[in-house]
Amino acid sequence: MIVTIDGPAGAGKSTVSRALAARLGYRHLDTGAMYRAVTLVVLETGDDPVAVARAGAWAARLDDPALRSGAVDAEVSSVSAIGAVREALRAEQRAFLALGDAVAEGRDIGSVVWPEAELKVWLDASPEERRRRRAVERGAEAGEAALERDRRDAAQTIVPEGSVPVDTEGLTVDEVVEAIARLVEERA
Ligand code: C5P
Repeated sequence: MIVTIDGPAGAGKSTVSRALAARLGYRHLDTGAMYRAVTLVVLETGDDPVAVARAGAWAARLDDPALRSGAVDAEVSSVSAIGAVREALRAEQRAFLALGDAVAEGRDIGSVVWPEAELKVWLDASPEERRRRRAVERGAEAGEAALERDRRDAAQTIVPEGSVPVDTEGLTVDEVVEAIARLVEERA
């Protein structure tokens, strides 16, 4: 089964998707990390983002701690807005999902990358909560930056048709994972 988890920055996508994938024994696809890795290579080399996305050297950087740096946060929205970058990364994402059971997180997974997913979740929380979470993780400036990044990502962030809204406000990670795991079991 393919489970998609889309939503804005700070909604809890990464934490929830990782925990859910571990609990189900599914593979995990963090598409934000792919856009971040392309951005990191662009910042380091000054190369054209489309050429970087197509060449694939970014794939070796998916676990690089620098993916979460302020420099990448500030630049990633302009790289991800380039249509040819998105097409290159979407092709990789579809190849990964074609192999079966996975939890995939991002902004356009249930809407564009894999609309046929058996379960599509739209994960959200209020702007205040999302700012607060980012601030706790990475400092006050990162909290503000997350909301600013949402505004720049608006065109890329699409609520999938047929998605189940899950509001994470006031819930623990375990509670959110449990709720989604129940939806998976219902559809299995
Ligand atoms: O999820 P995360 O915040 O790590 O994503 C980083 C950036 O990658 C987003 O701000 C957005 O610009 C881009 N992104 C995207 N489409 C996706 C996932 C992420 O455009 N499916």
